[in-house]
Amino acid sequence: MLARIRAGVLEQTTVDLLEQAGVAQRLHREAIVHDGIEIAFGGTQHRIDLKKATGKSVTIYGQTEVTHDLMDARDEAGLPTVFEAEQVSLHGFETDQPLLRYRKDGRDHEITCDFIAGCDGYHGISRKSAPEAALRIFEREYPFGWLGLLSETKPVADELIYVHHPDGFALCSMRSHTRSRYYLQCPLDDHIESWPDERFWLELKRRIGPAAANLVTGPSIEKSIAPLRSFVAEPMRFGSLFLAGDAAHIVPPTGAKGLNLAASDVHYLSDALREFYQERSRAGLDAYSQRALSRVWKAERFSWWMTSLLHSFPQNDAFSRRIQIAELDYLLGSPMAMASLAENYVGLPF
Ligand SMILES: Cc1cc2nc3c(=O)[nH]c(=O)nc-3n(C[C@H](O)[C@H](O)[C@H](O)COP(=O)(O)OP(=O)(O)OC[C@H]3O[C@@H](n4cnc5c(N)ncnc54)[C@H](O)[C@@H]3O)c2cc1C
Repeated sequence: MLARIRAGVLEQTTVDLLEQAGVAQRLHREAIVHDGIEIAFGGTQHRIDLKKATGKSVTIYGQTEVTHDLMDARDEAGLPTVFEAEQVSLHGFETDQPLLRYRKDGRDHEITCDFIAGCDGYHGISRKSAPEAALRIFEREYPFGWLGLLSETKPVADELIYVHHPDGFALCSMRSHTRSRYYLQCPLDDHIESWPDERFWLELKRRIGPAAANLVTGPSIEKSIAPLRSFVAEPMRFGSLFLAGDAAHIVPPTGAKGLNLAASDVHYLSDALREFYQERSRAGLDAYSQRALSRVWKAERFSWWMTSLLHSFPQNDAFSRRIQIAELDYLLGSPMAMASLAENYVGLPF
């Protein structure tokens, strides 16, 4: 779990939630705050000032670090965590006493609950346990993936650079002042073996335009290809089972929203549970699915839009390509369009 390299951009709302949970001390010591992002295309680079447009910033702090901090807090509180539970099954969530069964180290276990929070990711058992007839799936697959490379090198710039290039999107991102994360759009059927480090760095240099002069290259410490997709399962509640995060929805990573959406689901769900236990009110629980989905769909829209704006789509004809360039031109020439991007990028309010 701690070895997977994923999200790195936290919205202010996510940082606030970590603060409320008392797990943001290390984040405040080590994270990097970004007030803007860069967009490069046609050989030029333009800055979108997030802070000026919204008064807010984003925080660069790896998902693995967030997981570390949460696990440390659980350990300190003496709360048990079961890793790699096998044969997990959920029962009776249409009642007030659902059951969770699993197998660990050759022994069967059973937990009786008031509620089950299904936060077990896209491949977890929670969504798969929901009755098929009650579930509606919305899905879009994109005809490309992201080839990601992590290296112990100084990032090419102080802020993230999103690159539109006719041969494909690129992203210059980072985990710290000494650790860089770069991505290249690649065909879905591409293989890591076809991308030795030298080829990756050459292609990145070719795509990123003016920033290439400052690119520091070095050996990769991780390389992987991730497909891009949009996915939403509705509703997010089935009796006493509540879905949250990737268990219910996936966004393409272009808008940096996946982890942040998981956090906003947790915000709505934890509020609802607090209301239930402190005030014996079910209002928050009853509103959970609708509240969470309303924010999910706005993030789905933004992530789809950023993906459509910045990637090269193999099926696009000359007209579609001109429209894409016109949209980029419009965005970077219009303070209002930039403010709209900024508002979504830093995260819509809960
Ligand atoms: C390349 C890439 C880049 C990304 N960049 C960003 C970004 O910049 N910003 C952003 O916000 N998001 C980003 N994301 C998305 C983000 O990583 C996910 O949306 C986020 O991890 C969702 O969190 P989650 O807790 O819902 O699911 P997960 O992170 O998948 O966590 C689910 C957990 O449940 C555990 N689990 C499941 N079944 C069991 C079991 N049987 N026993 C024990 N444990 C179990 C899993 O081990 C896992 O740890 C990116 C994703 C990718 C692939």
